[in-house]
Amino acid sequence: MSLTIYDTLHREKRVFQPRDPRRVTLYVCGPTVYDYAHIGNARPPVVFDVLTRLLRRTYGAAKVVYARNVTDVDDKINQKAAREGTPIGDVTSRYEAAYLEDMSRLNVSPPDLAPHVTDHIDAIVAQIGAIMDQGCAYAAEGHVLFDVSSYQNYGRLSGRNLDDMIMGARVEVAPYKKNPHDFVLWKPSKEGEPSWPSPWGEGRPGWHIECSAMIEETLGLPIDIHGGGIDLVFPHHENEIAQGVCAHGHAHAPDAHAEYSRYWMHNGFLTVDAEKMSKSVGNVLLLHDLVQAIPGEVVRWALLSAHYRQPLDWNQSLLDQSRKALDRLYGALHRAADVEASDDQPPADFLKSIEDDLNTPGAMATLFALSSEIERAMTAGDAASVARAKGQLKAAADLLGVLQAEPATWFDAGVDDVFRTEVEGLLEQRAAARAGKDWPEADRIRDRLNALKVVVMDGPTGATWRVKA
Ligand code: AMP
Ligand code: ZN
Repeated sequence: MSLTIYDTLHREKRVFQPRDPRRVTLYVCGPTVYDYAHIGNARPPVVFDVLTRLLRRTYGAAKVVYARNVTDVDDKINQKAAREGTPIGDVTSRYEAAYLEDMSRLNVSPPDLAPHVTDHIDAIVAQIGAIMDQGCAYAAEGHVLFDVSSYQNYGRLSGRNLDDMIMGARVEVAPYKKNPHDFVLWKPSKEGEPSWPSPWGEGRPGWHIECSAMIEETLGLPIDIHGGGIDLVFPHHENEIAQGVCAHGHAHAPDAHAEYSRYWMHNGFLTVDAEKMSKSVGNVLLLHDLVQAIPGEVVRWALLSAHYRQPLDWNQSLLDQSRKALDRLYGALHRAADVEASDDQPPADFLKSIEDDLNTPGAMATLFALSSEIERAMTAGDAASVARAKGQLKAAADLLGVLQAEPATWFDAGVDDVFRTEVEGLLEQRAAARAGKDWPEADRIRDRLNALKVVVMDGPTGATWRVKA
């Protein structure tokens, strides 16, 4: 079996072949730490966490190096610190800590490397110098700008043609730019903003250069996979390629982009109740709030329930379905709690789905099939099949990063002993009433359970329950 991924640059699915299977490298653009992340920002780290789990399984855990950067130099960070009257470092460390806490609630494994811009200014200055030496950038009024006309493949990733872009340019163009699409590599800082010395004056890096410089310094070129949300294709990733290629004198080599990243992966956008999230609409859902209100696994399941390249709409029904899906799977594991798993590998059809450009909906269908097999085999008293299906279900779920809780804990969350005894007593009475065909009594007990906000899930081998969210 082999992994295929849809490569944004080649616009097709390609079989994944790392440059060196003993060191598989992956870089995903991480958060700008000026505020809490919203639910859309959680999609890339969750998707690429699944990819990393798969790569670690395929090549060996120690052979994969995953870097997710932290952008800690940015205008929005400066503005926030100025508004609050706090040091910039307070703002960045506060929101980075919150981000990491939220990621752990989503079972996102920490990346191997988390380079911060402020720790890599030397590499950034060196890369800008190399780009200038190649004649692909120029200094003007304290700025250094990348000259997009110097790179013959500019626009290749995003499928844009520079001439068309220039014709259609409506942006207000700074007078020191030779071309409206030239972008900033270095710029002067305003009074009170962080700044570092450079051959072009005191200042700070632009956004795009941070990633290409940190990739080169921390992972080395070319990397195997570069990922991020679809909005980053242009200009961020287009500009990263231009920088990474031109710093090494390949501005005119037709296929030099492959010397930067061998594959490009982008996730689709998340909307909320069919609308784009925006502060003006007032529908921005913060991940930090969501994971306080609902289990992180429900959020993770919901994020993986659509194929990563498709748009995903976040709404109540998605959350209800995700919760139900996990209840069903945990329910099967709960009923099979006393059976020891006899397998530790995901089944072939699960791997086939996940290796097909991370087809998570297909992979989830296998989880449901395995839980049905557990229920069937429990009813049939077929312990060997329960043991096998349970082991396969756990191994497959590990690759998706779900079903990480103890089943009993999952259903128990937030429930104390008195409440549990009461509910379990009612369930026994309900079973007895049903067995005796005393329907009015069964209805009365159901109403009582409803009043306690208890959801009962009847399976072929018994009932499980939980408190309504
Ligand atoms: P930002 O902090 O805006 O740079 O975004 C961090 C990451 O989240 C980037 O990879 C973005 O592409 C991604 N992202 C931002 N908004 C959304 C969204 N609504 N849906 C999916 N991904 C998003
Ligand atoms: Zn980036």
